[in-house]
Amino acid sequence: MLENKLNISIVVPIYNEEENVALLHSAISEVMRGLNQSYEIIMVDDGSQDGTLTQLRRIQKTDPRLRIIKFRGNFGQSAAMAAGFEAARGEFVVAMDGDLQNDPKDIPMLLRKLEEGFDVVSGWRKNRKDKLVLRKIPSKIANRLICSITGVRLHDTGCSLKAFRREVIKRIRLYGELHRFIPALAKLEGARITEVVVNHHPRKFGKSKYNITRTFRVLMDLTSLNLFLKHLRNPVRFFGSLALIALMIAFFTTIWAARIWMENNFETATINILITLVFLLVFTAFQFVFIGLLASLIVHTGKKKLFYLIES
Ligand code: UDP
Ligand code: MG
Repeated sequence: MLENKLNISIVVPIYNEEENVALLHSAISEVMRGLNQSYEIIMVDDGSQDGTLTQLRRIQKTDPRLRIIKFRGNFGQSAAMAAGFEAARGEFVVAMDGDLQNDPKDIPMLLRKLEEGFDVVSGWRKNRKDKLVLRKIPSKIANRLICSITGVRLHDTGCSLKAFRREVIKRIRLYGELHRFIPALAKLEGARITEVVVNHHPRKFGKSKYNITRTFRVLMDLTSLNLFLKHLRNPVRFFGSLALIALMIAFFTTIWAARIWMENNFETATINILITLVFLLVFTAFQFVFIGLLASLIVHTGKKKLFYLIES
């Protein structure tokens, strides 16, 4: 049977970008036509309240290669990207922002890297056009941290313009602010990762959807990611060692209590506190063991849970 093979899927998360979508669509289309490969553009409307959806529907009438996914509410960029990746049918999947800050002209270069054999190609906004103090500096610091914790050496993990082999991106689960960590998550899957310098433009229309508080959210996700990378593969061992630490503290506390007890004029209150502490520690140790078992159950049997709602 002859299958209709699709080569490239472009995934774009979009939230209130009414002035940008038409321009973006034609810029992407122009580049893709030049490549002479089959493609689809998946625009995920993350619950926009402006005219974005109307614009998208209008464009779709002229271009059946545009697919629209509409969220019931604003679930965030990671969720929108995840929905786009889930729907993507292409052999290669490209992700980019919907605000014209990324340049579709860079897409062929990213695809060439995939053809060379890489699984993930990440853009590097070497000449980034954003505010220095509010955006570039926090982003540099975050990037350093992310690199040192995840062990994936990239100059700019926060760049949205990225390309993936389908097998790799389909295995990655995104939630929270995790789209920033896709390379690290991909590394877990054994992906070969590289980066290329890409263009970056200042935002012409619409507003940035983020402010400085994002840095904190990213850091929160970074801590859970660190846990994830290091321990989630084997949670019983991780929580088991926490249990062991609690038991050891309990053991030494018992010895301490016994020594006080053997003194002639010991204080009952102190002994009581120490014994309570021992009970608490033993209880905590049991809790850790159970959490470990539960976590391993989730890791090994957990199904992909959708954290966004699509309006049909
Ligand atoms: N975006 C989204 N949902 C959100 C916030 C942002 O889909 O809740 C989209 C947004 O429309 C844009 C991309 O994610 O296409 C990046 O957002 P933005 O340009 O505001 O981020 P910045 O470039 O300022 O980091
Ligand atoms: Mg932007």
